[in-house]
Parts: sequence; structure tokens; C-alpha cells
Amino acid sequence: MQAMNTWKTLKLGTLGIIILSAALGACKKEENDSPAASVPLTEDEKSDLLFMLEEEKLARDTYIAMEAAWSTTQFANIKNSEQTHMNRIADLLQANNVPYLILPEGQFANPALQDLYDQFMLDGAVSEANALRIGATIEDLDIVDLQERMDATANASIDMVYSNLQCGSRNHLRSYVGAIAAAGGSYAPQFLSQAEYDAILSGDHENCGQ
Ligand code: MN
Ligand code: MN
Repeated sequence: MQAMNTWKTLKLGTLGIIILSAALGACKKEENDSPAASVPLTEDEKSDLLFMLEEEKLARDTYIAMEAAWSTTQFANIKNSEQTHMNRIADLLQANNVPYLILPEGQFANPALQDLYDQFMLDGAVSEANALRIGATIEDLDIVDLQERMDATANASIDMVYSNLQCGSRNHLRSYVGAIAAAGGSYAPQFLSQAEYDAILSGDHENCGQ
């Protein structure tokens, strides 16, 4: 009886080890298959990611300031989405060992983005209608800038992140333009073509990356 119990214990012990090994194997495989670190990035891909990280920061920082000025629901909601977008790019940079620096709110390493932010602060302080047009302008620009960089990379993990961010930007553009229209105003695309813009505006809200 004693011997049989011992045998049972041994048998269960071995089974447990097999299950544990299978589980560990599955985890290891998943880690290796992670798209983020599979292919080394080119220098262009790295600099594009760093630029897009700051452009997402331009969106976040602008919406934080516009929410503070006007307490608009759209800015309150969308600023959080822009933080998520920054995190998605930062995750890619970290996974690929690319160093990056996120400057304090309202500060940008890229002079063109700094100029845009400074101008947005001046224009956005004038009226809530101006602030909403700035929101639409940022999304209009972001969709085009993401598309250019998607077209320039063959890296599937980068492409997937840009594609999800662009999907979010289409939702944001519809949201801002809807608020502009509800207030009796209008927005004309400055970066997207009229046809691209019309196609986005006629679309429904999208569930991005879900
Ligand atoms: Mn964004
Ligand atoms: Mn956005």
C-alpha cells in the first residue's frame, strides 16, 4: 500500500513537470514570436518613430491645454487616447532598444512641432471654435504623417502600431468635426485630400485594434 502511494505520487509529479514544461514552452514561444523585436529597425524607421512619438505628444499636450481653457468633452476624452498612442510608440522603441526622451508638457525637441504647439496655444486661447479647429488640424496632419511612414516601412510591427494610431485619428477627426458642425462651423482639410477627408467623415466610429 505504501509502495503504491509512492508510485502514484511519483506519477503525478512527473505529469506535473510535463504540464509545467509545456506551459513554460508556450510562454517562451510567445515571447519569441512577439512582433515588436523580430526585425532590426532601419535608421529611417527609428527616426520616424521618434518623430511620431513627439507628434502624438503634440496632440496630447495641445488637448490638455485646450481642455484646461474650455472644459470641452472632446479634449478631455481624446487627450487620454493620445497618451495611449505615445505609449504604443514608446513600447516599440523600448522593444528595439532605441533611446528616447519625452520632454515636459509643451516642450518639443523638433522645432516644427514646437512652432505648431506655440501657435496652437495662441489661436486656441481665442475661442473654443478655434480650439476645435486646432483639434481637427492635428488629426488631419497626423493621419497624413502616419500614412507617409506606413508607406515607407516594411516592418509589420511598426505598420500595425501606425495603422492602429491612424484608426484612432480618424475617430478623433470625426469627433472634432462633429463638434465644429454642431456649433454651426465647418472645417476644410489642410493635409488630407478632399476625397480622403470625405471618405473618413462619411465613415462610422471604428474599434481600433480590437
Ligand atoms: Mn494620436
Ligand atoms: Mn488623435
